[in-house]
Amino acid sequence: MYEKLALFINGEWTNGSGRGGEDVINPATEASLGRLPHATVKDLDRALESAAKGYEIWRKTPAYDRARIIKKAADIVRANAESIATTLTTEQGKVLAEARIEVNVSADILEWYAEEGRRAYGRIIPGRMPNQRQMVVKEPIGVSAAFTPWNFPALTPVRKIGGALAAGCALIIKASEETPGTCVAVVRAFQEAGLPPGVLNLVFGVPAEVSEHIIASPIVRKFSFTGSIPVGKHLARIAADHMKRATMELGGHGPVIVFDDVDAEKVAAVAAVGKFRNAGQVCISPTRFFVHDKVYDRFVEKFASIAKGMKVGNGLDKDTQMGPMANARRVEAMEKLVGDAVQRGAKVAAGGQRLGNQGYFYAPTILADVPDDARVMNDEPFGPVAPCVRFKEFGEVVHQANKLPFGLAAYAFTNSTERATAVADALESGMVGVNHFGVSLPETPFGGVKESGYGHEGGIEGLDAYLVSKFVSQLPTA
Ligand code: NAD
Repeated sequence: MYEKLALFINGEWTNGSGRGGEDVINPATEASLGRLPHATVKDLDRALESAAKGYEIWRKTPAYDRARIIKKAADIVRANAESIATTLTTEQGKVLAEARIEVNVSADILEWYAEEGRRAYGRIIPGRMPNQRQMVVKEPIGVSAAFTPWNFPALTPVRKIGGALAAGCALIIKASEETPGTCVAVVRAFQEAGLPPGVLNLVFGVPAEVSEHIIASPIVRKFSFTGSIPVGKHLARIAADHMKRATMELGGHGPVIVFDDVDAEKVAAVAAVGKFRNAGQVCISPTRFFVHDKVYDRFVEKFASIAKGMKVGNGLDKDTQMGPMANARRVEAMEKLVGDAVQRGAKVAAGGQRLGNQGYFYAPTILADVPDDARVMNDEPFGPVAPCVRFKEFGEVVHQANKLPFGLAAYAFTNSTERATAVADALESGMVGVNHFGVSLPETPFGGVKESGYGHEGGIEGLDAYLVSKFVSQLPTA
């Protein structure tokens, strides 16, 4: 059932020219799913050359025809949603229902980009002289690269593939070595849809070696990275050395402000869905809960009772509500964060420990009365741990929410329109959800401020990320 793993270079599947590789592990069972070949420098150079050739074909392909191929790939992804979702759950861990949604939303994203690529409009600026035409033309930036993580193995690659290809760029993508099968399936959909060879290339390898080689190549004009802040800063330095444009989708530490005018139990139920989706391994996950003193006890009690009742298990099992963490590193990180918080005085209201001896399972965890200096209040947990804190004043809670160097997603719950507007204005964040957690759609911009990165994916901004503006000033005669 699992994908046959390979690199995709110049329209062909290959095991690469070296013998390097790694095993892909099922996080629910710790069993090996298959061997992933790594690209050698020679393979990467082939991918670069093939992307350069692919770009020459693709940039000259009319946007209308590009849209048809991308749309066809979306249809193939949707038609294969069940098998792609099964691969996704097997290699990443999230429950099958979530994997199905991810795959179908990925098809939506491709469709949206297919359509939007036909609207890469320029503009005409009135000339200074009679009959002068001043035109701004949007052109593809050129060969681009993408580096994607393991938490959304379909959706994150598709955001970058969709934007690049709709704009007329060729792309080399290095998807996560820990969850490669899903991206293999997505790339195959493009092959089946008739994408010309070289327009989309897929490689795997040692992340630092691959990214450094690709970003430094004069063939590549832009790259997009989704992952951790330290790696993002490292890649931004390399980008500066080579004057490469970059989109950086990095981590966050999403504050959730629950005001005293809400039904605390209802909000706790919504919070549990948002918090434990993908076992909390979501860059826009709600991660710091600031709850008004008047509703705090009711909120924490309900949140904890839902967490305690959740069925944790293999994501392929029908009744599982939360799967394993994607890798052993995350379980260790949860143990350290929870241990530190408890040592500093936090109370464990639910969970707080690893589950079982096999697979990377960690219990849905609610921490109450977490002190400000606990690491979990300062470092992104990226896991199923929800620290809760009391607040009394609007100004105080906004200060708390904004005080970290991140700004990806922030949330607030209130029934007052006045407060909703005030808090949305006050939060330093790329995305703000008021009374819900759904801030990621194909047609809306997704991106952070402060150390959470720069640039956007999704929305018209996501297409613009792969375009350059050319100004043409034209007089009628020489
Ligand atoms: P990590 O920092 O080692 O890696 C993060 C991602 O970057 C991985 O996909 C990895 O393969 C890739 N990567 C690492 N070095 C790279 C390089 N030099 N060039 C290109 N890609 C490189 O951490 P990790 O243990 O995989 O994940 C832990 C942390 O990463 C989490 O705590 C979270 O903050 C962050 N993360 C964020 C996102 C996101 O959606 N923004 C996704 C995954 C992980």
